[in-house]
Amino acid sequence: MGELFIYLLLFLVGASIGSFLNVLIYRFSKRENLRQILSGRSYCPHCKTPLRWYDNIPLLSFVLLEGKCRYCSAPISLRYFFVEFVGGLSLLVLYHFFHPLGWPTVLGLYIFVCLLVVLSFIDWETFEVPDIFTFGGTALGLILSFLRKDITPLEAFIGALIGFFSVVVISFLYKKFRGVEALGLGDAKFLAVVGAFLGPIGVYCSLFLGSVFALLYFLPQVVKSRSLQFAVPFVPFLALGALVGLICKYFPYLGFLSK
Ligand SMILES: [Zn+2]
Repeated sequence: MGELFIYLLLFLVGASIGSFLNVLIYRFSKRENLRQILSGRSYCPHCKTPLRWYDNIPLLSFVLLEGKCRYCSAPISLRYFFVEFVGGLSLLVLYHFFHPLGWPTVLGLYIFVCLLVVLSFIDWETFEVPDIFTFGGTALGLILSFLRKDITPLEAFIGALIGFFSVVVISFLYKKFRGVEALGLGDAKFLAVVGAFLGPIGVYCSLFLGSVFALLYFLPQVVKSRSLQFAVPFVPFLALGALVGLICKYFPYLGFLSK
């Protein structure tokens, strides 16, 4: 019973954090300035009516309002529900598998998942990844590696370097031989975050699986336009790759802990 209560509590806390991530995604996507980002209540993006607390309950409000604004009935993006759900579920799952390794591991991996979610959606909307998340995320990943039991600071540091420079090198070679921009600096900074949290293995999963996922997703567009030269948001695919990397990296743990 006590255990069940902890899980429920973690899910609710995680969903509330997801709600906050939604605010970050929205405000950074709209390129609001820092004061606007940090201040003020949430409001409906359509009719600008400030939301009351009962319009803002994670997951529940979305269901009760049937995905529509209470004031103007404009549809609310499913993204809000999705991010809140992922926020809750990932905290619960990470706690379940990693709490024997101590709270810094659970917290570190949870922060990492939150960064993946936020950066994926912002890149999807704007084709950009804000430095505050990439630099901040890399720094945080390096600091937490001193506390986590599942990664050494050396691994994190090398991971961040490999993440950043592998993209820079690929980008340089591509530009030199094909004359086009393949990957942006944003992707390099994103992979530095992945490396700081997951080490070199995470970087390679992210880069290679991410490329495969992106190619599959954009294949129809490639076939149609007969070229590879259109701008695509790459971070969501790198993030998916990193997530698979996270699962692979910890598969021995998962097997061990579920016994
Ligand atoms: Zn509205």
